[in-house]
Amino acid sequence: PPAGQVVLQAKDVTKRFSGLVANNDVNLDVKSGEVHALIGPNGAGKSTFFNMISGVDDPTSGTVTLLGQAMAGKPSRAFAALGLGRTFQHVRLLGQRSVLENVAVGAHLRARRGWLAAMLRADRGEEAALLAEARHQIERCGLTQYIDTPAASLPLGQQRIVEIARALAGQPSILLLDEPAAGLRHLEKQALAQLLTQLRAEGLAVLVVEHDMEFVMNLADRITVLEFGTVIALGTPAEVQANPRVMEAYLGS
Ligand code: ADP
Ligand code: MG
Repeated sequence: PPAGQVVLQAKDVTKRFSGLVANNDVNLDVKSGEVHALIGPNGAGKSTFFNMISGVDDPTSGTVTLLGQAMAGKPSRAFAALGLGRTFQHVRLLGQRSVLENVAVGAHLRARRGWLAAMLRADRGEEAALLAEARHQIERCGLTQYIDTPAASLPLGQQRIVEIARALAGQPSILLLDEPAAGLRHLEKQALAQLLTQLRAEGLAVLVVEHDMEFVMNLADRITVLEFGTVIALGTPAEVQANPRVMEAYLGS
């Protein structure tokens, strides 16, 4: 999609868990060529929201639109097929497998066939195309020197980048990242921010759920702040930082 086009739109998204309102009429959109960050204290409803905009869970009410298509009630594989890529809060890599194999899994998912199925009835032409796609994403993410390295033997920062490469192998229009900076060293955070800046310049829409304020403030174009399931602020990092309501929410947590 051209830069500035809305890729994902959540409208009045509400989620109730027996009495508790985890998301209360949340509105949020992510545009092509932007990094949008979703922040908020623990329990604010960030993960709940993430699950609903990736098809892991359904909203109680409200709509989620991906590239113009209404997604309510569709399974997560429908979101993936339409161009949503994501990473998880905890690294999910095949530790003993190489970086190449891990990233190839992402290309297989796009091809709508499981990794195992592809291995068992290997169609050589397709296999070669998927591996070529994986190599391309590995290069794009600066991982070429680790292409044959088992994923588990890389430092956490690089494992996170392998996960991003795997998501990119599905050729997404939007990338959802759940706390990508958590547990990373300073230099690893810098490398991650640099990659996300590059992907943004290439026109990807990026939504990041993140606790690390410094990371978010230096990277995001727009920030949405959740508290008790409700959006209390939306703006640029400077606007959000100067918002008294946001300071209160963080000091009070
Ligand atoms: P965050 O990711 O911002 O820390 P969550 O979305 O995980 O917040 O949680 C928001 C609120 O919803 C919390 O009070 C949490 O306990 C509650 N919650 C989340 N998932 C469930 C669930 N499956 N069942 C019941 N309550 C839940
Ligand atoms: Mg969470």
